[in-house]
Amino acid sequence: MSDPAPSDVSLPARRTNLWLESRYRKLRRGLPQTVFFCPDCKGSRRRRTDCRRCGGFGKLTRESVQELIARRLLPAMQAKAGRFHGAGREDVDVLMLGRGRPFVFEVLGARRGDIDLEALRLDIERRAEGAIELQPFVRVERQRLVYWKQQHFEKIYRAEVAIDAPPDAAAFARAAAFAGEIVQRTPQRVAHRRADLDRHRRLRVLALRPAGPSTLELRVQCEHGTYVKEWISGDENRTEPSLASLLGVGCRCAVLDVEEILTDDVTGPRLQPPPPVPEP
Ligand SMILES: [Zn+2]
Repeated sequence: MSDPAPSDVSLPARRTNLWLESRYRKLRRGLPQTVFFCPDCKGSRRRRTDCRRCGGFGKLTRESVQELIARRLLPAMQAKAGRFHGAGREDVDVLMLGRGRPFVFEVLGARRGDIDLEALRLDIERRAEGAIELQPFVRVERQRLVYWKQQHFEKIYRAEVAIDAPPDAAAFARAAAFAGEIVQRTPQRVAHRRADLDRHRRLRVLALRPAGPSTLELRVQCEHGTYVKEWISGDENRTEPSLASLLGVGCRCAVLDVEEILTDDVTGPRLQPPPPVPEP
């Protein structure tokens, strides 16, 4: 029998699972939230070898928010694997600004749960070279992951809108003041993976102003599950009314950012009143 080295005394003898909550800000376009597996070969070791789509890489982007975190976190905690659970997700080309998007990182089989989380966070940010920023990690119970999956939040988006022609003044004023319900049929771009149905969503234009000869800057607040790009373009009349139909000119979303996710701790007006408290 030999005694363990003194530095090993504080290490847990067994592996544990733990959950870290934070929010990420995504400051680089083209960065997916989670690993972007190739749609053709699904990243499978066997099938990707001859895959033309990804050239054998198995993924369509080199990095993701998940990988930027896991790459530092898993070795630091001597963990077997990690799972990323975001409170929703934005498109690859959309920035995530404001306070960032909540997520829970599930660490599986960690030998070291006692590391300096703030040092880890700063290390992740430094290695991400400005692509992401994180709020301080907080250790949470697994239940928080379920909370973020089940809750839906309104969002504020900022967009640059390319317009085909200058709208007339009355139409512009109508669009700039729009607040109401829209009906969105499942967009063409997601129709292959979403049921084809009409969705009713509330939406309010917060600001609309010219930002160039053929560009408008838009800020809009909308309910969870609103397809903002399609609300701007109208998606060939599958969304009604749309910014394009209100303005009477063709519109296309050129740039889109999530400015804020209106989680319960963010103050400000909501489109949807909170559900009524049942009578006793
Ligand atoms: Zn592939």
